[in-house]
Order: sequence, then C-alpha cells, then structure tokens
Amino acid sequence: IGLAKHFPIKSGVFQRTTGQIKAVDGISLFVKKGETLGIVGESGCGKSTAGRTFIRLYEPTAGKILFKGMDISHLPESTLGRTVRKNIQMIFQDPYASINPRKTLKSILSEPLITHKLYDRKGREEKISDLLQKVGFNPSFINRYPHEFSGGQRQRIGIARALALNPELIIADEAVSALDVSIQAQIINLMENLQEEFGLTYIFISHDLSVVRHISDRVAVMYLGKIMEFARKKDLYENPLHPYTQALLSAVPIPRKRGVEKRERIVLKGDLPSPANPPSGCVFHTRCPAVMDVCRKITPEFKEMKKEHFVACHLYE
Ligand code: SF4
Ligand code: MG
Repeated sequence: IGLAKHFPIKSGVFQRTTGQIKAVDGISLFVKKGETLGIVGESGCGKSTAGRTFIRLYEPTAGKILFKGMDISHLPESTLGRTVRKNIQMIFQDPYASINPRKTLKSILSEPLITHKLYDRKGREEKISDLLQKVGFNPSFINRYPHEFSGGQRQRIGIARALALNPELIIADEAVSALDVSIQAQIINLMENLQEEFGLTYIFISHDLSVVRHISDRVAVMYLGKIMEFARKKDLYENPLHPYTQALLSAVPIPRKRGVEKRERIVLKGDLPSPANPPSGCVFHTRCPAVMDVCRKITPEFKEMKKEHFVACHLYE
C-alpha cells in the first residue's frame, strides 16, 4: 500500500547524493490467496524492484507491505526468516545465475532445508527426491550438476528450490522470458499445476503481455515506478481504461473464437523518460495520445473506477 523504493543517485568524488531514482513510487496492489497477480511493464519501469521490495530484499522507502494481514515492511531481519524468507520465495529469469554451478542438485536443494533446520539427513533426501518429481525430474538426477541441464530444465531446478520450504507465495521475475516459446508453455503449465496442488499464490512479473494474460487472475500495468491500471484480467484485457494499457494491448494480437481480432495499433511517440527525472504531473504525459493540459501539472489519483478496476488517469475524473 503506497509502497515506494527510491535509490539515491551519488556523484562526484565524495559520492554526495544528488538526486533520487524513484524506481517504485507509491504503488498499491493486492493479490488473494491462490491467485496470480501479473505485473507488466517495459524494462526499467520498476517491476523487478517492486518484486524485490515485496520480499524485503530491499528496504521500502515508504508505504506498507502486508502479508496475510501482517505488516512486514519493517520487520527486523531476525523475524523475517520465520515469516517472509520461508513463506515467500522468488524465481528469477536466469536460474543459472542464482545456482552455484559447482554444486549438485542434492546440495542445491538441501541448502534451504538446512538453513531452516528442516528434516534430518534422511528426511532431506526424501524431500529432495519428492521435489525433483514434482518438477518433472527423475529422482536419479539428484547427483547431477546444473550445467548438465537445458535452460528450461534449470528453471525447473529454480522452481524446485523455491518450493523446498513449502512457501505460500512465489514471486517470479521474468521467469520464462529467456526461454523458447514451447518451453515457456511447459514451465507455465508446471507452475499452474503446482499452484493448484499446493494452493500457491503467485506474483508473476513480466514484460510479455501474452504470457501475463495466460497465467494471471489480476494484472497491474506499471510505468515509471507507478501503477497505471490494475484490474481483473478480463476487465484489463477486454476493457482497458488507461491510454498506456490501450497502447500496449494494441500491439498484441487478441485470440478470438474465430481467428484473431485486429485492433488499430497505437504507436507511442518518444522514448521512455529517465526514472531519475520523471515528467511532472502524469508520468505518462510525454507519450500519451490523449494528453490534456491538466496532465502536465497534476498527478492523477489512482482510483477504483469499477469494482476492483483501478486506474490513474485524468480522463476518468
Ligand atoms: Fe494521458 Fe493525461 Fe491520462 Fe496521463 S492523465 S494517461 S497524460 S490522459
Ligand atoms: Mg526487470
């Protein structure tokens, strides 16, 4: 709620703080248990920073993070372990980067179990063999090394590791973006099956509107650190209110029962402004096809226009 993460910009020999990058600038979102919240936006819009702030990899600059009603925004590191670190796990784009290549699957998957003092040696081995099967591997893979696997298989390792502590929420940051389309579909299917089996809640961060559409129940559209629009999937994709959402969607073909519907493509002028120096008023005003005078001066409020359909735009005031 109103969550912000600003990074100082330092410059000069004394590294004085000369400004702020408002990577995440006051966002309010929610996801219900067992659902998937998709967060979409171009690279640099702050979606990854938001994901990392949700799980307290970054300290929030302002605002609140509520997890099952508990305010975790300022919990000390000692308490975080029992709540956040165990119940909320993250999957990244490149699982290889977060996996130690010199370790076997057994040792990679044992690590979280040992850290959280779960199971004895034998129990751990059973758990690991179970995890491997859950992600579609043969348990005999236990002594293999990550380099023996393809990109899609490595993402399965990433998922197995995220599942090791039986989390309730998994945040996936561009988890399938590096994979071929057919492999993407396999990983997404796997994630959906696991969600059903374990009642998992997902926050799925991606620049890819089609992938987000496939997996999400609710979708938030981010631009320059702010949420432009947030709604249930159907409402957002079928009745987008915000000019930015409309432009993004106009570039994606929409599958219909009969063939593909073509929308008129809205091409945005200009480049993405720097988050270090965002435009005044509505941050989207420099590129908005519907810009009005008021947009340059006043930041539009993020308001609920219809049930669970939020938008930040002066067109709706
Ligand atoms: Fe466009 Fe104005 Fe709405 Fe911003 S507030 S999206 S500039 S119409
Ligand atoms: Mg990112």
